[in-house]
Amino acid sequence: MQKTECYKGLAHLGQIRLLTMSLLTQVIQCFLGMVGFLAQLLTRAAQQQEDKLTTGLSINYHFTRMCNYTCGFCFHTQKTRDNLPLDRALEGLAMLRKNGCEKINFSGGEPFLIKKGTYVGEMVKYAKEIGISSVTIISNGSKITEEWFSKYGEYLDILGISCDSFRSEVNKIIGRDDKSKGYDHVIQLHKIARWCKQYNVLFKINTVVNTYNWQEDMNREILKFGELLVRWKVFQCLVIDGENAGESALRNAASFVISDSEFKEFLDRHQQCSRVLVPEDNESMRNSYIILDEKMRFLSNVDGQKTPSASILEVGFENAFKDAGFDSQMFLRRGGKYTWTKAEILAERTAPGASCSSSLDTDLSW
Ligand code: SF4
Repeated sequence: MQKTECYKGLAHLGQIRLLTMSLLTQVIQCFLGMVGFLAQLLTRAAQQQEDKLTTGLSINYHFTRMCNYTCGFCFHTQKTRDNLPLDRALEGLAMLRKNGCEKINFSGGEPFLIKKGTYVGEMVKYAKEIGISSVTIISNGSKITEEWFSKYGEYLDILGISCDSFRSEVNKIIGRDDKSKGYDHVIQLHKIARWCKQYNVLFKINTVVNTYNWQEDMNREILKFGELLVRWKVFQCLVIDGENAGESALRNAASFVISDSEFKEFLDRHQQCSRVLVPEDNESMRNSYIILDEKMRFLSNVDGQKTPSASILEVGFENAFKDAGFDSQMFLRRGGKYTWTKAEILAERTAPGASCSSSLDTDLSW
């Protein structure tokens, strides 16, 4: 009798053990399933991010190094006077579009120097026609005419003009000056802002903060542009070996360089402009741009100087892009992806609940 009860007890214990084991196995399987599911989610998110980057490339095409200004810190200097024949440049643009380019920025040197602006104008028009959603230009502004706006303005999303100071004498010291008689960079800036408004082109200002302007208070002048100004990009003066530093360089930016705390002080002083102010310190600038030079070669800044890849026109986009030195994470971190088409920006403004503060007509008092 006792033996039978003992066997029964043992069998019961065995059942409990089996049950516990099976429960444990189920819990472990469930846990592993969840880990697998989470891993899948993360992979999918990373893939989506990757897709977004390769289908939404923002490319800066510095198609000329020629410039009529002499900015002391220039980091894309006049090492050559070359630029591609227009048909080759258009061929390259088509290749960029095919490989996921969503935004193209034409820059230099000074983009409006070649063929009195028709070269850049034809590229702007073509880029829009082949479906690049955002087409922009960065210029010093000195050669832009109203005639250009009337011919090409409709194809341009944003025009950015470089302006480091609202004091003419400071611009002259920096070298932001055409040096022709009676020319004034700030007066030209205001003229261009008016044309932007008239021809429905969004207006942007780029400022390089350096030794000569870091103490300036630009609030009043920047706010004067009201809603016409969509972006004020504020860069910390950057040193690039071979461009504005080192023996082979055409410029020496050493006397223009400011410290991180001076840059921060400039930014703090301009909090009132936070609606449009986009700061970029040296760290965020390096490798967060995809840059093509005058031969359509990617320029990598990985080792502190601009190292060219082969040209996309010779080896194809993918082969050249491997050497672009592009840091997509830094690009995202510096806010490289933003609302960049004219249509979207204007739609945001008219959306219900959008700010309708300063109107252009009342704010612009030149
Ligand atoms: S405007 Fe100044 S910074 Fe720009 S390309 Fe000319 S010299 Fe260089």
